[in-house]
Amino acid sequence: MSVPFFPELIELEAIIEKLGDRAKVEIIDYIEYENYQFPIHCITLGSEQKKVPVIMYFGGVHGLEKIGTEILISYLQTIAELLEWDRGLADRLKHSRMVFVPIVNPVGVFRGSRCNPNGVDLMRNAPIDGIGRVKLYSGHRISPHLPWYRGNHTQMEQEALALCQVVQKQFEQSSLIIAVDLHSGFGIQDRLWFPYASTKKPFHSLPEIYALKALLDKCYPNHFYKFEPTSEEYVIHGDLWDYLYDDFLAKKTNEQALFIPLTLEMGSWLWLRKNPMHLFLRHGLFHPVLPHRQQRIMRRHLILFDFLYRATLYSQKWVNLPLEERQDFEQQALRFWYE
Ligand SMILES: [Zn+2]
Repeated sequence: MSVPFFPELIELEAIIEKLGDRAKVEIIDYIEYENYQFPIHCITLGSEQKKVPVIMYFGGVHGLEKIGTEILISYLQTIAELLEWDRGLADRLKHSRMVFVPIVNPVGVFRGSRCNPNGVDLMRNAPIDGIGRVKLYSGHRISPHLPWYRGNHTQMEQEALALCQVVQKQFEQSSLIIAVDLHSGFGIQDRLWFPYASTKKPFHSLPEIYALKALLDKCYPNHFYKFEPTSEEYVIHGDLWDYLYDDFLAKKTNEQALFIPLTLEMGSWLWLRKNPMHLFLRHGLFHPVLPHRQQRIMRRHLILFDFLYRATLYSQKWVNLPLEERQDFEQQALRFWYE
Protein backbone atom coordinates (compact mmCIF):
# COMPACT_ATOMS: atom_id res chain seq x y z
CA MET A 1 0.00 0.00 0.00
CA SER A 2 1.21 3.50 -0.72
CA VAL A 3 0.79 6.87 0.93
CA PRO A 4 -1.71 9.16 -0.83
CA PHE A 5 -1.08 12.69 -2.05
CA PHE A 6 -3.44 15.54 -1.29
CA PRO A 7 -2.72 19.24 -0.77
CA GLU A 8 -3.14 19.40 3.00
CA LEU A 9 -0.87 16.40 3.59
CA ILE A 10 1.78 17.73 1.22
CA GLU A 11 1.74 21.11 3.00
CA LEU A 12 1.92 19.47 6.41
CA GLU A 13 4.86 17.30 5.42
CA ALA A 14 6.71 20.36 4.08
CA ILE A 15 6.31 22.09 7.46
CA ILE A 16 7.41 18.98 9.31
CA GLU A 17 10.56 19.02 7.22
CA LYS A 18 11.13 22.70 7.95
CA LEU A 19 10.68 22.15 11.70
CA GLY A 20 13.32 19.42 11.56
CA ASP A 21 14.61 18.35 14.96
CA ARG A 22 12.77 21.21 16.69
CA ALA A 23 9.64 19.05 16.57
CA LYS A 24 8.88 15.51 17.58
CA VAL A 25 6.72 13.92 14.90
CA GLU A 26 4.80 10.69 15.30
CA ILE A 27 2.41 8.92 12.99
CA ILE A 28 -0.18 7.84 15.51
CA ASP A 29 -2.16 5.65 13.12
CA TYR A 30 -2.77 4.84 9.47
CA ILE A 31 -6.24 4.72 7.96
CA GLU A 32 -6.59 2.32 5.04
CA TYR A 33 -8.72 3.45 2.13
CA GLU A 34 -8.71 2.34 -1.52
CA ASN A 35 -5.24 0.77 -1.38
CA TYR A 36 -3.72 3.78 0.32
CA GLN A 37 -2.55 4.26 3.86
CA PHE A 38 -3.50 7.67 5.18
CA PRO A 39 -1.23 8.77 8.05
CA ILE A 40 -2.44 10.71 11.11
CA HIS A 41 0.42 12.95 12.22
CA CYS A 42 1.01 14.28 15.71
CA ILE A 43 3.55 17.10 16.04
CA THR A 44 4.95 18.06 19.43
CA LEU A 45 6.98 21.18 20.13
CA GLY A 46 8.62 22.27 23.34
CA SER A 47 9.50 20.64 26.61
CA GLU A 48 9.11 16.89 27.07
CA GLN A 49 9.16 17.30 30.84
CA LYS A 50 6.22 16.24 32.92
CA LYS A 51 4.30 19.01 34.69
CA VAL A 52 4.75 21.70 32.04
CA PRO A 53 1.48 23.24 30.79
CA VAL A 54 0.24 21.92 27.46
CA ILE A 55 -1.79 23.42 24.64
CA MET A 56 -3.16 21.06 22.00
CA TYR A 57 -4.73 21.74 18.59
CA PHE A 58 -6.88 19.44 16.48
CA GLY A 59 -8.26 19.96 12.98
CA GLY A 60 -10.04 18.02 10.25
CA VAL A 61 -12.20 15.85 12.54
CA HIS A 62 -14.95 16.64 10.05
CA GLY A 63 -13.11 16.29 6.75
CA LEU A 64 -15.16 18.81 4.80
CA GLU A 65 -14.41 21.58 7.29
CA LYS A 66 -10.96 21.95 5.79
CA ILE A 67 -10.44 25.46 7.05
CA GLY A 68 -9.53 24.07 10.50
CA THR A 69 -6.71 21.99 9.04
CA GLU A 70 -5.54 24.92 6.94
CA ILE A 71 -5.47 27.31 9.89
CA LEU A 72 -3.34 24.87 11.87
CA ILE A 73 -0.96 24.35 8.94
CA SER A 74 -0.67 28.10 8.61
CA TYR A 75 -0.08 28.47 12.38
CA LEU A 76 2.64 25.81 12.28
CA GLN A 77 4.19 27.64 9.34
CA THR A 78 4.32 30.83 11.43
CA ILE A 79 5.82 28.98 14.40
CA ALA A 80 8.45 27.34 12.18
CA GLU A 81 9.49 30.78 10.89
CA LEU A 82 9.44 32.41 14.34
CA LEU A 83 11.63 29.69 15.76
CA GLU A 84 14.37 30.81 13.36
CA TRP A 85 14.81 34.07 15.33
CA ASP A 86 12.25 34.63 18.12
CA ARG A 87 14.20 33.70 21.25
CA GLY A 88 11.18 34.58 23.41
CA LEU A 89 9.13 31.84 21.77
CA ALA A 90 11.98 29.34 22.03
CA ASP A 91 12.24 30.21 25.70
CA ARG A 92 8.50 29.85 26.32
CA LEU A 93 8.63 26.44 24.68
CA LYS A 94 11.23 25.36 27.22
CA HIS A 95 8.51 25.76 29.83
CA SER A 96 5.55 24.40 27.90
CA ARG A 97 4.47 21.98 25.21
CA MET A 98 2.39 22.43 22.05
CA VAL A 99 0.78 19.41 20.43
CA PHE A 100 -0.83 19.45 16.98
CA VAL A 101 -2.95 16.90 15.13
CA PRO A 102 -3.98 18.99 12.12
CA ILE A 103 -5.56 16.15 10.10
CA VAL A 104 -7.47 13.88 12.48
CA ASN A 105 -9.65 12.39 9.72
CA PRO A 106 -7.29 12.21 6.72
CA VAL A 107 -9.64 10.28 4.42
CA GLY A 108 -12.39 12.78 5.23
CA VAL A 109 -10.10 15.71 4.38
CA PHE A 110 -8.97 13.93 1.19
CA ARG A 111 -12.55 13.22 0.07
CA GLY A 112 -14.10 16.40 1.43
CA SER A 113 -16.53 14.39 3.54
CA ARG A 114 -17.70 15.02 7.08
CA CYS A 115 -17.48 11.36 8.08
CA ASN A 116 -14.62 8.86 8.07
CA PRO A 117 -14.45 6.04 5.44
CA ASN A 118 -16.86 3.91 7.52
CA GLY A 119 -19.50 6.64 7.31
CA VAL A 120 -19.03 7.55 10.97
CA ASP A 121 -19.24 11.10 12.28
CA LEU A 122 -16.26 11.09 14.64
CA MET A 123 -17.79 13.80 16.84
CA ARG A 124 -20.73 11.44 17.51
CA ASN A 125 -18.59 8.36 18.07
CA ALA A 126 -17.79 8.37 21.81
CA PRO A 127 -19.73 5.97 24.06
CA ILE A 128 -21.77 8.72 25.69
CA ASP A 129 -25.47 9.46 25.22
CA GLY A 130 -26.96 12.92 24.99
CA ILE A 131 -29.65 13.79 27.52
CA GLY A 132 -32.62 15.98 26.63
CA ARG A 133 -33.81 17.27 23.28
CA VAL A 134 -31.90 15.10 20.82
CA LYS A 135 -32.49 15.31 17.07
CA LEU A 136 -31.23 13.33 14.06
CA TYR A 137 -28.17 15.59 13.89
CA SER A 138 -27.43 14.75 17.53
CA GLY A 139 -26.28 11.37 16.24
CA HIS A 140 -28.05 8.09 15.38
CA ARG A 141 -27.39 4.45 14.58
CA ILE A 142 -29.87 4.16 11.70
CA SER A 143 -27.44 3.97 8.79
CA PRO A 144 -23.89 5.02 7.85
CA HIS A 145 -25.43 6.44 4.67
CA LEU A 146 -27.06 9.23 6.65
CA PRO A 147 -24.99 12.07 8.11
CA TRP A 148 -24.27 12.10 11.87
CA TYR A 149 -23.99 8.30 12.09
CA ARG A 150 -22.58 7.31 15.49
CA GLY A 151 -20.97 3.99 14.53
CA ASN A 152 -20.57 0.94 16.74
CA HIS A 153 -21.21 1.55 20.43
CA THR A 154 -18.67 -1.04 21.58
CA GLN A 155 -15.74 -0.06 19.38
CA MET A 156 -14.70 3.51 18.67
CA GLU A 157 -13.28 4.37 15.26
CA GLN A 158 -9.51 4.41 14.71
CA GLU A 159 -9.38 8.19 14.18
CA ALA A 160 -11.39 8.87 17.36
CA LEU A 161 -9.18 6.50 19.35
CA ALA A 162 -6.04 8.15 17.97
CA LEU A 163 -7.29 11.58 19.08
CA CYS A 164 -8.25 10.26 22.53
CA GLN A 165 -4.89 8.56 23.04
CA VAL A 166 -2.97 11.74 22.22
CA VAL A 167 -5.01 13.68 24.79
CA GLN A 168 -5.02 10.96 27.45
CA LYS A 169 -1.25 10.69 27.24
CA GLN A 170 -1.08 14.33 28.37
CA PHE A 171 -3.38 13.61 31.35
CA GLU A 172 -0.49 11.66 32.83
CA GLN A 173 2.10 14.28 31.98
CA SER A 174 0.65 17.66 32.79
CA SER A 175 -1.60 19.33 35.30
CA LEU A 176 -2.79 22.07 32.95
CA ILE A 177 -4.04 21.19 29.49
CA ILE A 178 -6.04 23.23 27.01
CA ALA A 179 -7.23 21.49 23.87
CA VAL A 180 -8.68 23.41 20.91
CA ASP A 181 -10.60 21.53 18.23
CA LEU A 182 -11.25 23.56 15.06
CA HIS A 183 -14.56 23.24 13.22
CA SER A 184 -16.71 25.32 10.95
CA GLY A 185 -20.48 25.27 10.88
CA PHE A 186 -23.60 27.26 10.18
CA GLY A 187 -24.12 30.57 11.88
CA ILE A 188 -22.76 34.07 11.69
CA GLN A 189 -20.62 34.04 14.80
CA ASP A 190 -17.35 32.41 15.83
CA ARG A 191 -18.02 30.38 18.92
CA LEU A 192 -15.84 28.91 21.63
CA TRP A 193 -17.55 25.90 23.10
CA PHE A 194 -16.77 24.09 26.31
CA PRO A 195 -18.40 20.94 27.80
CA TYR A 196 -20.93 19.63 27.96
CA ALA A 197 -22.38 18.80 24.57
CA SER A 198 -24.35 15.84 25.88
CA THR A 199 -26.22 17.56 28.69
CA LYS A 200 -27.28 20.99 29.89
CA LYS A 201 -25.70 20.24 33.26
CA PRO A 202 -22.82 22.62 34.17
CA PHE A 203 -19.35 21.11 33.96
CA HIS A 204 -16.90 20.90 36.82
CA SER A 205 -14.46 23.59 35.62
CA LEU A 206 -17.07 26.32 35.36
CA PRO A 207 -15.18 28.83 37.58
CA GLU A 208 -12.02 28.42 35.52
CA ILE A 209 -13.76 28.77 32.17
CA TYR A 210 -15.57 31.89 33.38
CA ALA A 211 -12.31 33.36 34.69
CA LEU A 212 -10.68 32.58 31.33
CA LYS A 213 -13.55 34.25 29.48
CA ALA A 214 -13.28 37.29 31.77
CA LEU A 215 -9.58 37.49 31.01
CA LEU A 216 -10.19 37.34 27.26
CA ASP A 217 -12.91 40.01 27.57
CA LYS A 218 -10.54 42.26 29.49
CA CYS A 219 -7.51 41.79 27.25
CA TYR A 220 -9.44 41.91 23.95
CA PRO A 221 -12.64 43.87 24.63
CA ASN A 222 -13.49 43.80 20.91
CA HIS A 223 -13.02 40.10 20.37
CA PHE A 224 -15.76 38.39 18.38
CA TYR A 225 -16.03 35.01 20.11
CA LYS A 226 -19.19 33.79 21.74
CA PHE A 227 -18.04 31.72 24.70
CA GLU A 228 -20.67 29.16 25.76
CA PRO A 229 -21.32 25.51 26.62
CA THR A 230 -21.89 23.43 23.47
CA SER A 231 -25.30 22.39 24.81
CA GLU A 232 -26.40 26.02 24.59
CA GLU A 233 -26.57 25.43 20.81
CA TYR A 234 -27.49 21.75 20.70
CA VAL A 235 -27.35 18.52 22.66
CA ILE A 236 -25.54 15.66 20.91
CA HIS A 237 -24.56 12.04 21.46
CA GLY A 238 -20.99 10.80 21.40
CA ASP A 239 -19.01 14.05 21.73
CA LEU A 240 -15.34 13.11 22.09
CA TRP A 241 -14.57 16.12 24.30
CA ASP A 242 -17.31 15.30 26.81
CA TYR A 243 -15.96 11.78 26.88
CA LEU A 244 -12.37 12.93 27.41
CA TYR A 245 -13.35 15.50 30.02
CA ASP A 246 -15.21 12.89 32.10
CA ASP A 247 -12.32 10.49 31.64
CA PHE A 248 -9.95 13.16 32.92
CA LEU A 249 -12.11 13.77 36.03
CA ALA A 250 -12.33 10.05 36.72
CA LYS A 251 -8.58 9.52 36.44
CA LYS A 252 -7.17 12.64 37.99
CA THR A 253 -5.14 12.13 41.12
CA ASN A 254 -4.00 15.73 41.55
CA GLU A 255 -6.85 17.90 42.82
CA GLN A 256 -5.27 20.96 41.16
CA ALA A 257 -5.08 19.39 37.69
CA LEU A 258 -7.14 21.07 35.00
CA PHE A 259 -8.17 20.04 31.48
CA ILE A 260 -10.13 22.51 29.37
CA PRO A 261 -11.35 21.24 26.00
CA LEU A 262 -12.52 24.00 23.66
CA THR A 263 -14.18 23.71 20.28
CA LEU A 264 -13.66 26.67 17.98
CA GLU A 265 -16.74 26.64 15.77
CA MET A 266 -16.15 29.17 13.00
CA GLY A 267 -19.37 30.63 11.63
CA SER A 268 -19.39 29.90 7.92
CA TRP A 269 -22.25 32.32 7.20
CA LEU A 270 -19.70 35.04 7.79
CA TRP A 271 -18.21 34.21 4.44
CA LEU A 272 -21.35 32.81 2.81
CA ARG A 273 -23.10 36.15 3.22
CA LYS A 274 -20.37 37.83 1.24
CA ASN A 275 -20.39 35.26 -1.55
CA PRO A 276 -23.62 33.25 -1.89
CA MET A 277 -22.03 31.26 -4.74
CA HIS A 278 -20.32 29.23 -2.03
CA LEU A 279 -23.58 27.37 -1.56
CA PHE A 280 -23.02 25.67 -4.90
CA LEU A 281 -19.38 24.76 -4.59
CA ARG A 282 -18.25 21.39 -3.32
CA HIS A 283 -16.53 22.60 -0.18
CA GLY A 284 -18.14 26.00 -0.28
CA LEU A 285 -20.42 26.02 2.68
CA PHE A 286 -17.91 25.09 5.32
CA HIS A 287 -14.86 26.25 3.53
CA PRO A 288 -14.07 29.72 2.27
CA VAL A 289 -12.73 29.28 -1.23
CA LEU A 290 -11.45 32.71 -2.15
CA PRO A 291 -7.80 33.00 -1.11
CA HIS A 292 -7.99 36.52 0.37
CA ARG A 293 -10.97 35.55 2.50
CA GLN A 294 -9.14 32.45 3.61
CA GLN A 295 -6.18 34.57 4.63
CA ARG A 296 -8.40 36.86 6.65
CA ILE A 297 -10.01 33.95 8.47
CA MET A 298 -6.60 32.56 9.31
CA ARG A 299 -5.37 35.89 10.60
CA ARG A 300 -8.37 36.55 12.80
CA HIS A 301 -7.78 33.46 14.94
CA LEU A 302 -4.06 33.90 15.51
CA ILE A 303 -4.82 36.44 18.25
CA LEU A 304 -6.92 33.84 20.04
CA PHE A 305 -4.17 31.23 19.74
CA ASP A 306 -1.65 33.68 21.12
CA PHE A 307 -3.96 34.55 24.03
CA LEU A 308 -4.64 30.90 24.86
CA TYR A 309 -0.94 30.08 24.79
CA ARG A 310 -0.17 32.93 27.19
CA ALA A 311 -3.07 31.89 29.43
CA THR A 312 -1.68 28.35 29.48
CA LEU A 313 1.81 29.52 30.35
CA TYR A 314 0.85 32.14 32.93
CA SER A 315 -2.32 30.82 34.50
CA GLN A 316 -2.39 32.64 37.85
CA LYS A 317 -5.41 34.78 36.87
CA TRP A 318 -7.70 31.81 36.21
CA VAL A 319 -6.28 28.57 37.63
CA ASN A 320 -5.97 27.53 41.29
CA LEU A 321 -7.78 30.61 42.52
CA PRO A 322 -8.58 31.07 46.21
CA LEU A 323 -11.80 29.31 47.22
CA GLU A 324 -13.81 32.50 47.61
CA GLU A 325 -12.85 33.83 44.22
CA ARG A 326 -13.60 30.46 42.65
CA GLN A 327 -17.08 30.42 44.20
CA ASP A 328 -17.69 33.94 43.01
CA PHE A 329 -16.76 33.05 39.41
CA GLU A 330 -18.96 29.98 39.64
CA GLN A 331 -21.98 32.05 40.68
CA GLN A 332 -21.36 34.52 37.87
CA ALA A 333 -21.01 31.65 35.39
CA LEU A 334 -24.25 30.01 36.52
CA ARG A 335 -26.10 33.29 36.09
CA PHE A 336 -24.48 34.00 32.75
CA TRP A 337 -24.93 30.61 31.07
CA TYR A 338 -27.41 28.49 32.94
CA GLU A 339 -30.27 30.67 34.17
ZN1 LIG B 1 -17.36 20.02 12.64
